Amino acid sequence: MRYEVIVIGAGMVGTSIAWHLQKKNSKVLLLDKKSPGSETSYGNAGLIQREAIHIHPFPRQPIELLKVLPNKNTDIRYRWPAVLRYRQALLGYWRFSAPSSVQKIEKEWQTLIEHCTSEHQKMITAAGVEELIRRDGWVEMHRTDDKFKTAVAAAKNAREQGIEHQVLSLAELKALEPNGNFDGFIGAIHWLNSWQVSNPGELVKAYAKSFRDMHGTIGESSVKKILPDGDGWQVITDNNFFYSDHLVVAAGPWSSELIKPLGYDLPLFPMRGYHQHFEATDQNAINHSLVDVDNGFVMGPMQQGIRITTGAEMALMDAAKDFGQLHAVLGFAKNILPLNDQVENEPWCGSRPCMPDMKPVIGASGKHDNLWFAFGHGHQGFTLGPITGRIVEELIHNQPLTVDVEPFNAQRFSKS
Ligand SMILES: Cc1cc2nc3c(=O)[nH]c(=O)nc-3n(C[C@H](O)[C@H](O)[C@H](O)COP(=O)(O)OP(=O)(O)OC[C@H]3O[C@@H](n4cnc5c(N)ncnc54)[C@H](O)[C@@H]3O)c2cc1C
Repeated sequence: MRYEVIVIGAGMVGTSIAWHLQKKNSKVLLLDKKSPGSETSYGNAGLIQREAIHIHPFPRQPIELLKVLPNKNTDIRYRWPAVLRYRQALLGYWRFSAPSSVQKIEKEWQTLIEHCTSEHQKMITAAGVEELIRRDGWVEMHRTDDKFKTAVAAAKNAREQGIEHQVLSLAELKALEPNGNFDGFIGAIHWLNSWQVSNPGELVKAYAKSFRDMHGTIGESSVKKILPDGDGWQVITDNNFFYSDHLVVAAGPWSSELIKPLGYDLPLFPMRGYHQHFEATDQNAINHSLVDVDNGFVMGPMQQGIRITTGAEMALMDAAKDFGQLHAVLGFAKNILPLNDQVENEPWCGSRPCMPDMKPVIGASGKHDNLWFAFGHGHQGFTLGPITGRIVEELIHNQPLTVDVEPFNAQRFSKS
């Protein structure tokens, strides 16, 4: 079967790309080994982060590095096989985290983030899923005076970019979330124009249904090989093969493995996270996602219960689950809310697709015509899926671009 465009990967990024292309009358096949929104875009914290104008640099101060080394932190952990496997990417991450680079990268990053809520809104309206979205922000809770003061100053500066917040005293935090025990905290920042999704996987599925309602095709099979075929592409899966004029690789943390046989060696690396749901009760009901910044975890009100989401663990994609970080986090979380009955027997884990310069790859592959890349959105791929979808549609249809894609090009690593 021949399509105008095949998109590999039905996470938030690939589904948004397929949606935009189909809306503009392309004949699109969205291919995934699972049903849409079943991997990283299922398990995240569900925040659409308009406030995320800052990237996540590698710690560069010796004191910060020393804190990470014992590998006991709750916000970041590492495993040696992954450190060795991704050492080049990590070195790049360290280099790009120099303050002068960070400034430039953040300006480029912000050109994407500024569109996140408006682009999600178009898809939410088309999919008719207002009930999945809460628009009353999330709460960043602080335990230490210095960090809190710095965060409040940064929040004030963020107003220049239209990002609204309210600084909360401990009493105000308690009034906002009466079920919480906030002993040990000193205050919080309530980010007002970011959104909370009550079931991230369902939002992707709803976007995929909206794509199908526009006569888009969804295929469930695992892509084994992609091959140039004349001016177009052949995609071979475990049970079929397909042809297209254009091919988009949006396979999240799996993307680099798929394109390696075509001669692309992009330094994508995974940063794992875990989640566990606890039954929601009258005693632990919360109105907003609460983030314990000092311990690096999120407590979110989800349809499945209270979802506790961990920070980052550098682990190989296929490494066995290690619940050490999650258990450490639960020690803090259970002090804040009564979390008694866990919903799943085994916690979920998945990997953020990260690039050393903390920016996604969006655009032409560079070496092959009609091959497009869209992956590496790191900590904010759920937020940035829809704007990425819009840009990729504009690129393929040769339309004026909403965002300059030069900073996100796939060739930037071969140049350096
Ligand atoms: C714990 C955690 C919390 C997070 N919290 C947030 C948050 O609050 N807000 C936010 O914006 N981001 C958050 N993120 C990041 C966000 O989840 C990711 O950046 C985003 O989901 C990536 O989307 P994606 O579509 O690129 O990848 P994915 O959702 O992983 O989709 C890739 C798809 O490709 C498919 N695929 C792979 N290989 C093949 C193949 N060979 N054949 C067929 N299909 C294939 C997979 O099955 C998968 O469905 C979080 C991540 C984690 C881990």
